[in-house]
Amino acid sequence: MPEHSEAHQIIRGGTVFDQNFRNADPADILVGGDVIVEIGRPGMEAPAGAKDIDASGRLLMPGLVNAHTHGHGSLGKGLGDKWSLELLLNASPWVSGGFELEDKYTAALLNAAEMVLKGCTSAYDMYFEFPAPSMEGLDAVGRAYEEVGVRVVLAPMMADTTFYKAIPGLIDALPQPHRARVEKMSAATCEEHLSVCEIFLESWPLDRDRVRPALGPTIPLHCSDAFIRACRDLANAHEVGVQMHLAESKVQAVAGLQRYGKTLAAHLDDLGLLGPRFTGAHCIWLDDDDLARMADRGATVAHNPGSNLRLGSGIAPAKRMMAKGIGVGIGSDGSASADNQNMFEAMRMASFVSRIVTPDPDDWIGTQDVLKMATTGSASVLGLGDLVGRIAPGYKADILFLDLGNVNFVPLNDAANQVVNCEDSSAVDSVMIGGRMVLSGRRFTSFDFEALRQRVNEASARIRARNRDSFVHMQAMARFVSQHCVGLVRDHYHVQRRLDPPPEDESSISS
Ligand SMILES: [Zn+2]
Repeated sequence: MPEHSEAHQIIRGGTVFDQNFRNADPADILVGGDVIVEIGRPGMEAPAGAKDIDASGRLLMPGLVNAHTHGHGSLGKGLGDKWSLELLLNASPWVSGGFELEDKYTAALLNAAEMVLKGCTSAYDMYFEFPAPSMEGLDAVGRAYEEVGVRVVLAPMMADTTFYKAIPGLIDALPQPHRARVEKMSAATCEEHLSVCEIFLESWPLDRDRVRPALGPTIPLHCSDAFIRACRDLANAHEVGVQMHLAESKVQAVAGLQRYGKTLAAHLDDLGLLGPRFTGAHCIWLDDDDLARMADRGATVAHNPGSNLRLGSGIAPAKRMMAKGIGVGIGSDGSASADNQNMFEAMRMASFVSRIVTPDPDDWIGTQDVLKMATTGSASVLGLGDLVGRIAPGYKADILFLDLGNVNFVPLNDAANQVVNCEDSSAVDSVMIGGRMVLSGRRFTSFDFEALRQRVNEASARIRARNRDSFVHMQAMARFVSQHCVGLVRDHYHVQRRLDPPPEDESSISS
């Protein structure tokens, strides 16, 4: 037993999941500082002076880990409806442009607060600043996460090519004056991005256990080869992660074949980007060779079923990825594309969409597996696999207290099935992160949510007013963007949705 008992807390009276989410049984948890020291029988001894935390009537589980989100998107929830990914990208200057420094901080606070309220304790955030990341912006976002208490891997989301130039033929398909307008648009250069990233990775001032830097070149078609190679080298030199949206829409898959003469994953592999530091977000339009590439290189996947349904992007073959040995975590994606930060909903969708991929229940993703994906699976995506995602000695004390009196758990028949299939985050009563109660009785302990609400409403009104021109242009161009992109994939009907496991003799998409 460590001697400094004043730093100990003992969580008593709770029901605790085992490591595989098979059973949930009464147990006490001893926390020392920010880590779990011991899990023992009810009434176990604790060091003298340890603080008692009452968890009676509570189901204790590891904090959920969000493998893919966008903090800047929190102010954009509910802005779109029938948007494909390409219509969302067309709307991006309206949704995510015009943020001042304070707005970046506010958006990150809101994203973090929503995650805590819905049981998430760590996240991988690809945060976008227009036109390029800034140290002030990254610092503000990092501080916002620290203030709320959520652990974050913070990756500036970057592109050195505009969306309109990334999609083959799109600019030519736009009538004037839209064509001239988007021809004049330019993204920040590779050098502009890299100069900030070098400082970001070298001299990040915050505690890396709480806010860990990473890189987020956003989409292969939006990033030049030179830029992708530079991100690869920088990530290797500083031993940080790289996250990228990969084959999220069929438009991207087809455009990749046209641009590179190979699949997007093959392109990234040839650039040397695929490796254990790399996470592909979405990965819907990967063929079997691509899955083998990802598995061979030790790359991971962030599976975002809610966003994929909302944007009509398709369904990622998550079960097949796991069968091939790829580490798969679950993400909510940003609220501008999936409208919330609810990892319980994301888990349920991940489980449910696996069932329309194949009629064989043996190949579905069950509730125990989906719980592992959203905890240990996502933790390895964040590069925190030995720190978070389990209630086990040596792991960070990131623990959810779910109220078993909530109607979602009445009656309590099967804890794992009910966490995934019944819970909607309304039973999240308290949240401990790193041994600190961040949320207690559904109230933030050291953070004023009312003040945030007011701040968000003011920021949102200001940004919408400032971006009025972008709104007008977005609306005027939407029809042309959509028609062109729909036409692009319609002409390539042979790029199949991989809803069924392929027959042996037909295992890859081809150009
Ligand atoms: Zn995303």
